Amino acid sequence: MDTRYDLHSHSLASDGTLSPAGLVAAAHAAGVDVLALTDHDTTDGIDGALAAAQQTGMQLVAGVEISVSWQAQTVHVLGLGIDPDCPALQQGLVKLREFRDWRAEEIGRRLARAGIGGCYTGARKLAQGRIVSRTHFAHYLVAQGHAACVRDVFKRFLVNNKPGFVSGEWAGLEEVLGWIAAADGIAVIAHPARYRMTASKLRRLVGEFRECGGSGMEVVSGSHTRDNITAMAALCRAEKLLASSGSDYHGPENPWVNLGQLAALPAGCRPVWESEHWPLH
Ligand code: AMP
Ligand code: MN
Ligand code: MN
Ligand code: MN
Repeated sequence: MDTRYDLHSHSLASDGTLSPAGLVAAAHAAGVDVLALTDHDTTDGIDGALAAAQQTGMQLVAGVEISVSWQAQTVHVLGLGIDPDCPALQQGLVKLREFRDWRAEEIGRRLARAGIGGCYTGARKLAQGRIVSRTHFAHYLVAQGHAACVRDVFKRFLVNNKPGFVSGEWAGLEEVLGWIAAADGIAVIAHPARYRMTASKLRRLVGEFRECGGSGMEVVSGSHTRDNITAMAALCRAEKLLASSGSDYHGPENPWVNLGQLAALPAGCRPVWESEHWPLH
């Protein structure tokens, strides 16, 4: 049988709802053979996930999803097969988490000004001492009855021109690709169809990404439609990037995204796991 890959997932170390070991167990139960744990701006879940994967015989790829600011937009870049002990990577991630902490307080202040108090404390509590993401604010606001669901919170409070929006000031593309290279990882643009860029802007992003040493892009993603997959496959082939596939799973609360249930990569796309740099060869 074919090897089943899922190269994008989150645990409690960032904004997922399963522990690293719980995530690995869920992936194993779903028939995943190779899982990448790619938490936002932290590698804290990797040790626990690796230990759990060893027990099941499933393969775990150490990964991270890094927040990048590019042309006034936030873009996510995955580092797959990274060495979590790399000092350059960890120093970079510390800086991003410092910005995250400041941003969380600022989101709280802005929501308070809009008449909704207690959000910073509430989101921080939900994050349990780990990174605070907008997802934590969303869960808090839903629990407090300010919105019907997480998606609704984002739309009304947490995106551009809404009361709780704070623009990202993350790291630059070149800088981030430097950290991933230092950690011996493969850099992959996450969910490229999600950025709502024009086709030409997306090509510019991909071009710069390649110039800075990036090598792959997600063609199949839990947040891509069929049409997105077709378009991203064409871009991937044209730019001669490696193609990746990942669910972007955050936990069982979101029934639209399942672990390991991903469409096959379209013909002509070279999978990232066939790269000579793939960590599990
Ligand atoms: P942050 O990195 O803190 O800005 O949070 C980004 C995370 O919020 C993403 O990784 C998603 O998990 C989540 N997210 C972003 N936009 C939405 C949305 N429209 N609906 C639900 N979740 C979202
Ligand atoms: Mn997330
Ligand atoms: Mn992302
Ligand atoms: Mn993600």
